[in-house]
Amino acid sequence: MADAVHIHPAVDAGVKPGSGSFNGGTLVCKCAQDPVKVRIDSNIAYNHACGCTKCWKPEGAAFSVVAVVPRDKLHVTANENKLQVVDPNAAIQRHACKGCGVHMYGRIENKSHPFYGFDFIHPELFQESGWPPPEFAAFVSSVIESGVKPDQMAGIRSRLKELGLEPYDCLSPPLMDAIATHVAKASGVLAA
Ligand SMILES: [Zn+2]
Ligand SMILES: [Zn+2]
Repeated sequence: MADAVHIHPAVDAGVKPGSGSFNGGTLVCKCAQDPVKVRIDSNIAYNHACGCTKCWKPEGAAFSVVAVVPRDKLHVTANENKLQVVDPNAAIQRHACKGCGVHMYGRIENKSHPFYGFDFIHPELFQESGWPPPEFAAFVSSVIESGVKPDQMAGIRSRLKELGLEPYDCLSPPLMDAIATHVAKASGVLAA
């Protein structure tokens, strides 16, 4: 199956619907011993597949699956000493496990960033099931930067559509509108 398009293990067999009553749980890294655990005390929002080169992806996946939670609903509950920031200069500071490499959460420290207040998490790391499924695919063209051949892109976009994950080359329109609204309010073009 050299031509098989692997988007992500959480969606390759079809997107599973959520339970409709998910309200958080515990993210666990891949270490067999002393795993890092992160408790989330809320539902997740804007779950999506992401093709950017910064998100953590499981082996063989072209995309990550990533969602947001309010930062005050996220608490590291075990083995926090194993976490380190991947790139301290990035807008999103991704806290990765030094043992297994999994990114446990991404945090924005710049208070003027449009998404300040939200942490980015990978819901496949929940030990619980029932989380809301990915809704769209972001930064699709960026998978080329990770080694996907440009001539595979038509197949990837049609597979995403087949899965119900509308492909966008940046974020989805509601998120792009949220960013532009934030910028317009900051500049005074739009009343705050
Ligand atoms: Zn680990
Ligand atoms: Zn990403």
